[in-house]
Amino acid sequence: MSDPVLSTVTRFAPSPTGLLHLGHAYAALFAFRAAQETGGRFLLRIEDIDTGRCRAEFEDALYEDLAWLGLSWETPVRRQSEHFDAYARALDVLSAMDILYPCFCTRKDIAAEIERSGHAPHGPDGPLYPGICRALSPDARAARIKRGDSYALRLDMARARVLTGPLMWFDRTRDRTVAATPEIFGDVVLARKETPASYHLACTLDDHIQGVTVVTRGEDLFAATHVHRLLQALLTLDTPHYHHHPLLTGETGERLAKRDKALSLRALRAAGRSPEAVIALTGL
Ligand code: GLU
Repeated sequence: MSDPVLSTVTRFAPSPTGLLHLGHAYAALFAFRAAQETGGRFLLRIEDIDTGRCRAEFEDALYEDLAWLGLSWETPVRRQSEHFDAYARALDVLSAMDILYPCFCTRKDIAAEIERSGHAPHGPDGPLYPGICRALSPDARAARIKRGDSYALRLDMARARVLTGPLMWFDRTRDRTVAATPEIFGDVVLARKETPASYHLACTLDDHIQGVTVVTRGEDLFAATHVHRLLQALLTLDTPHYHHHPLLTGETGERLAKRDKALSLRALRAAGRSPEAVIALTGL
């Protein structure tokens, strides 16, 4: 990987599940400027693996809104829905390392097991998976797959950690290296039947493939970086620097969301705001 300080490659990676709002404008501008300041490159990536929730009209709208703001990016734009084969190959690598297992549990099965055991350690995304399917024998797994039971692929976190040892990343927000503790997530899901690659897998692999040297994204994704650092070690991918910036909040301190229609870039533009005025609203 090229030096992240000398030659910066940043990216903005929205999911087209709604209209972009002021918080996205902040994130996009932050990444754009981080590249510009060093004469580097800015990329746009469409994170549309969740084909059920992503819409072409939102993708079209985001190109238009970002261009209206004055941003430009390299083409062709990487669209994750066109690269499921790359994610499948990465899953094959992990599978060959014997650190993936099929999980047939429904949400109900998981809740029942947590209730039964009376033990519910929590991770950043909620209660940790209690490991029910990790204990299945190879024969039991094969029989259920043959029967057509639907399953997700989970990472066997304990086995993965044995293979990788201590891991760190350089966090620009904190201006120091941070120790990765992906075990806080337990056995994360890396693929599901309806979405054959998880956000963690697709995002980490793409940042490597696209040569991203500085990942800038909201503080809400700080915890995800623990898993991304682990996947980099397992799949021998480059580790970029990370800059987890604060999230813009509304007047009462709440996070902006795609459903806050009034703060969509569309609505601000329709209300007569100029791109400069919108950029000023982001505080950047
Ligand atoms: N697609 C993610 C989102 O819209 C962002 C992923 C990232 O920046 O790593 O929240």
